[in-house]
Amino acid sequence: MLKSIKKILIANRGEIANRIIRSAHDLDIATVSIYSEVDSTSPHVLLARQSIGIGGILSSESYLDIDKIINACKVTGADAVHPGYGFLSENAEFARRCEAENIIFIGPNAETISIMGDKLSAKKKVTEFNVPLVPGMDLAITDLNSAMNIADEIGYPVMIKASAGGGGKGIRIVYDKMDFKDEMKRAMSESKSSFGSDQVFIEKFILAPKHIEVQIIGDQYGNYAALFERDCSIQRRNQKVIEEAPCSLLTDSKRKEICALAIKVAESCNYVGAGTVEFIADQSFNFYFLEMNTRLQVEHPVTEQITSVDLVKEQIKVAMGEPLSINNKTLKINGHSIEVRIYAEDPANNFLPDVGKLTTYKIPKGPGIRVDDGFEEGMNIPIQYDPMIAKLISHGSNREEARKRMLRAIDEYKISGIETTLGFCKFALEHPLFINGTFTTSFVSEHFTPDLLTKSLDHDEEIVAAIVAINGYNEMKSFSKTTPKQNPSNWKSRSKK
Ligand code: ADP
Ligand code: ADP
Ligand code: MG
Repeated sequence: MLKSIKKILIANRGEIANRIIRSAHDLDIATVSIYSEVDSTSPHVLLARQSIGIGGILSSESYLDIDKIINACKVTGADAVHPGYGFLSENAEFARRCEAENIIFIGPNAETISIMGDKLSAKKKVTEFNVPLVPGMDLAITDLNSAMNIADEIGYPVMIKASAGGGGKGIRIVYDKMDFKDEMKRAMSESKSSFGSDQVFIEKFILAPKHIEVQIIGDQYGNYAALFERDCSIQRRNQKVIEEAPCSLLTDSKRKEICALAIKVAESCNYVGAGTVEFIADQSFNFYFLEMNTRLQVEHPVTEQITSVDLVKEQIKVAMGEPLSINNKTLKINGHSIEVRIYAEDPANNFLPDVGKLTTYKIPKGPGIRVDDGFEEGMNIPIQYDPMIAKLISHGSNREEARKRMLRAIDEYKISGIETTLGFCKFALEHPLFINGTFTTSFVSEHFTPDLLTKSLDHDEEIVAAIVAINGYNEMKSFSKTTPKQNPSNWKSRSKK
């Protein structure tokens, strides 16, 4: 059914609020931003046509307060809400409340959110559609002794995960049976405090995998499109820092396979809107379903760069009841795109948050560069919310052009007053394993130490060797001679074609 949207309230802050406001304006739709007490001077407040303070400082008193947000919609006459990511974006209760109040929630329906928002119910759903899962148990467990027996059966190392988890939180890896009970207790209490539920489950910990995810979109008439994959394997604390599209090691047939699996997952829950299906890929590119994120993803811009699709516009059009304007016959990959997340964190100190004042803040410009940010020079990065400042995205006609442009832009980006992840991202982008694409989720733990941050410019010889390896493929031998630390995995560099 076609419904018009005239005014969207953005129930979020920071870069993603700005990002959404811009696409709404491109569609000639009015916007309302909301702000907490600490955000009254934030760019998203000025960028929207209208803005409304909702008070509060903590997330729970502001961006997570459903009543305040529904009230803000009524006061401003907003007929739709875009939740962005984080906060209420995966909250089924919020989607339900919007529906009850006749406000269009730009996202899937409440039932889909509650199935996919819980990792265990999501797994149950997708197995009915023969989507492969990471080996493990598919029920929540609280009894320590039974849990330990299950871990024995699965075989160490295992991962204990919060069923309601997200953002890399509520996850523990256990290598040794001796540590199991303590880690299990920690996982349960962490899950309870972060997500309000102590439901955890156990999975086999796949050593050095790649995290590959597929962007999908579905309309209200059962049409789906897969907008290809993203490789998000450079992570710290099980959360992404660098993402790229496409994955440089996937063959066309593997790409088709993972996209088809993602569409099956979307069909399993009658998905409507934009969503992401996350998989773990082992060294033979066997894909295992991890979870589905029923919202716009932080790293969605890399997909936009390679497909020329504005995902936020598509989300809004689908919410208005329009049929999809894209499909897998016409979608094509155009070049390559990389994103680095700029967090107010100190990579030299375990990536701990380092909030404070942005004394200097100058963004890079030029061919192939996009900056999605939420701050300006002189502003404070508040401690109350996620410490991401900006996303720097590059696009090139091929991967090497995108990588070079990213390195140029990182050098141009000037930030002082706080530590950021930029230096780490430069180190990673210059690393031979990044250059040849064989990096895995263990990149940070196996190849990064803070002393390398200052040495990243001394890697010239290795970089030359890596480029030779890429051009020649299967030249991993010449490459390994100059690589001080060997990738312990058997990942092979391979050609796309
Ligand atoms: P993405 O999944 O888009 O790559 P992240 O995992 O980095 O992004 O999460 C983006 C933001 O959303 C972070 O602020 C994170 O803490 C928050 N977030 C993600 N999942 C959840 C969840 N289930 N509950 C609460 N917050 C979440
Ligand atoms: P979240 O909701 O926090 O994003 P995920 O289930 O997506 O939780 O896992 C986050 C990250 O943890 C993944 O991107 C991956 O790097 C790692 N991970 C998750 N499950 C496994 C596993 N079974 N084996 C190895 N790594 C895993
Ligand atoms: Mg995830």
